[in-house]
Amino acid sequence: MPELQRDLRGRALRDLRVSVTDRCNLRCTYCMPREVFGPDYAFLERDELLTFEEIARLVRVMVPLGVEKVRLTGGEPLLRRDLPDLVAMLAGIDGVTDLALTTNAVLLPRHAAALAAAGLHRVTVSLDALDDAMHRAVADTDVPVAAVLAGIDAAVAAGLGAVKVNAVLQRGVNDGEVEALAAFGRDRGVTVRFIEFMDVGTTNRWRRDRVVPAAEVIDRIGARWPVEPVEPTRPGEVAERWRYVDGAGEVGVIASVTRPFCGTCTRARLSAVGELFTCLFAASGTDLRGPLRDGADDAALAAAVGGVWARRDDRASELRAEDGLSGPRVEMSYIGG
Ligand code: SAM
Ligand code: SF4
Ligand code: SF4
Repeated sequence: MPELQRDLRGRALRDLRVSVTDRCNLRCTYCMPREVFGPDYAFLERDELLTFEEIARLVRVMVPLGVEKVRLTGGEPLLRRDLPDLVAMLAGIDGVTDLALTTNAVLLPRHAAALAAAGLHRVTVSLDALDDAMHRAVADTDVPVAAVLAGIDAAVAAGLGAVKVNAVLQRGVNDGEVEALAAFGRDRGVTVRFIEFMDVGTTNRWRRDRVVPAAEVIDRIGARWPVEPVEPTRPGEVAERWRYVDGAGEVGVIASVTRPFCGTCTRARLSAVGELFTCLFAASGTDLRGPLRDGADDAALAAAVGGVWARRDDRASELRAEDGLSGPRVEMSYIGG
């Protein structure tokens, strides 16, 4: 095994999130508020997006630098046409040991079987409420929650491994859904993970008092169904895991705001246009599409990525002030959540 590329804080590059589109079929208020992402919003043009061949080439170049886990995201990745073709290309790359997809699940009934056949290992579904009216309000959509549940069922039926559900909680909005979502996870054998609302981008009206601390979530769940902590299975695991004492599986919390985990952050992001970002809260990334389309060879691309990682010093969440981050930063739907 070659020496892993380390950043200025000694962190290796292990995970890559690949955004395949900046478009979405929902308008979650904390991610793509409709007043910003409305009919006049200028989404990326198709020829600006990396092609599947370009994405696969960059992943192949990054594996020897340390990347072993790849997650497809967006925007809504299932809006990207022929996504299973990309999955098949990535599944065929030696050294990619974990290939996952994050999706709102609305289109999963249509695509789950093809994704599984192409070699996708697992999916994470975002679902913030089980109550239909609450779901529609948070996702700012007419799509019923039943469609998301059908997507989860389709993923399970397609054999897409252990499906996980991610829920972002906002105080005074959907924090009343904690117990219902936990009960759903227990009944369905799905691990639900509660994520603290973050000030990603600058348009989602984040406020500290809207964050529901992970500790509070675990206290509430534990009061109903006793839980005990599960040791992390690998460094850099962002979710804190808890096991139901009665054997009904696990629940997790991602305490990005109240207990930041920058110290073990091994994650890079590739935007849909081929910029490499080394932090979710970065203002800008490094263009890899330019060199790629100008004919750079693999060694030059690897040197570019390795150089960016070697200079990485990010720890935005550890530096977050009480009233949030300051300065420009890219939107989540663009960089890939
Ligand atoms: N559309 C797909 C989905 O929703 O699963 C993939 C992209 S979405 C940007 C990825 C994840 O980011 C989702 O689980 C979403 O809930 C989360 N997310 C978006 N904005 C967030 C915020 N402000 N704070 C915390 N999580 C956020
Ligand atoms: Fe779309 Fe996912 Fe953002 Fe919701 S969280 S608006 S589903 S990209
Ligand atoms: Fe990683 Fe940046 Fe998040 Fe810290 S704030 S965990 S460095 S992505």
